[in-house]
Amino acid sequence: EQTLKGKTALVTAAANGIGRASAEALAARGAQVIATDIDGAAVEALAQTSSNVTGYPLDVLDDAAVTALVASVAPVQILLNCAGWVHDGTILDCDSADWDRAFDLNAKATYRITKAVLPGMLDGGSGSIINIASIVSSEKGAPRRFAYGASKAAIIGMTKAIAADFVKDGIRCNAICPGTVQSPSLNERLAATGDFDKALAAFKERQPMGRLGQPEEIADMVCYLAGDLSAFTTGQAFAVDGGWSI
Ligand code: NAD
Repeated sequence: EQTLKGKTALVTAAANGIGRASAEALAARGAQVIATDIDGAAVEALAQTSSNVTGYPLDVLDDAAVTALVASVAPVQILLNCAGWVHDGTILDCDSADWDRAFDLNAKATYRITKAVLPGMLDGGSGSIINIASIVSSEKGAPRRFAYGASKAAIIGMTKAIAADFVKDGIRCNAICPGTVQSPSLNERLAATGDFDKALAAFKERQPMGRLGQPEEIADMVCYLAGDLSAFTTGQAFAVDGGWSI
């Protein structure tokens, strides 16, 4: 197992699910973790559990708050863009406010935070940017994931563009494409269907492994991409999806 000692990691949406598991895993491997979430109390509570974690409230949609936070913390060598939002519906269900929200939270926030953090990485001569996309993106279509899939595909495009632009500067940028992963917002989506058990069974069935992923299984890939074990790897989209995309 690699050590991330001496590196500082900024994580968005670190209060729950994949972001939380990743913040914990990065800290366990020795990184200093700046755990941010719109739910500031939850990341401050997370910070109480590890001396390697500090918690800050951060709404990734707030330009000024992103700039202020990045200016106030130590230079970052690892950035995990994890905040995201699922719009449930086809193109016919997607009004322009839904489209804007999907692109604001999934794509534009990734652009905004990366742009704020990258100059510090360039000054330091190294950085690993990890974007949480989804297997539902340019990798695969899924029913009722129109705005979600389009905005997650944008993340993969951004990932490759950033990787290409900064490959000679010691910066790597990769995306992770999870399948269906157990998380609080997944539970809300299952409950919103009106029949939690039936929806859960359907989600499990589309995973060839017959089970949902656990956030820790995505966090392991985050840690791999964060550190030197993946030093020869950039611009890629890694499926961690229980075989959904086979
Ligand atoms: P989650 O959706 O359960 O938790 C998301 C966190 O984001 C919450 O703590 C919430 O407070 C925070 N958040 C919401 N709006 C925010 C904002 N404006 N600014 C900052 N934080 C905000 O977590 P999850 O399901 O693990 O999803 C995390 C990421 O993984 C998302 O980008 C999601 O699209 C992606 N993903 C999830 C799955 C899945 O099945 N769970 C699959 C593929 C991709």
